[in-house]
Amino acid sequence: MLKLFFPHLCCGCDRRLSDGSQVLCVNCQNELPICFPKNIKDNAFVRQFYGRLLIESAFTLLRFEKTNLTQRLLHQLKYKGQQQLGVFFGLRMGSMLRQLKPATHFDLIIPVPLSNKRKRKRGYNQVEKFAQSLGQQLNSPVNSKALIRRDSRHSLVKLGRSSRFKREHHFEVNHKLELSVNMHILLVDDIVTTGATLEACAKVLLNKGDFKLSFATIAISE
Ligand SMILES: [Zn+2]
Repeated sequence: MLKLFFPHLCCGCDRRLSDGSQVLCVNCQNELPICFPKNIKDNAFVRQFYGRLLIESAFTLLRFEKTNLTQRLLHQLKYKGQQQLGVFFGLRMGSMLRQLKPATHFDLIIPVPLSNKRKRKRGYNQVEKFAQSLGQQLNSPVNSKALIRRDSRHSLVKLGRSSRFKREHHFEVNHKLELSVNMHILLVDDIVTTGATLEACAKVLLNKGDFKLSFATIAISE
């Protein structure tokens, strides 16, 4: 009955959804700019980290542009509480990963955290549902408390005579996290642009031991 008064709307185009689809209408699903790589070990995302970090693989689902469907959907996921989009993206990525040969196994999936302050303000971390959904698809455990983000949003950086504000990426590994050698860890975020956030998280994890590390994001900004 409630559905009569509150019909489910497509997160991409606001059209009323038919009973079958829960998040995106068929048109929007067909329009998704999917860019899941053919080779998860060698692609543009992996090459971003050449000379910075040694990673096992990296893969993403969607191409992000300032005015495309991906931009609208990430906005809905991040600011409009549409967490079911994260679940949907996790399902799509999981089914693509499962088709790859040889199969890849991840011993642990870790979502990039928000600071406590920001999480309180937003009410949720937009990456967690995506990570959980992906973990279910791949039979891999997810630990959302493995990393801690400190709230040092802006700090003044002196650069010669000029000064500017810089966003600081400050992460720590939770001391309760148990890691064993030769684990393959998948670090998950919503979008990769410069790779600075993933790199900062990776470095604190790699300080704790010798792991295989891979990255997955919902979208890539080129
Ligand atoms: Zn739609």
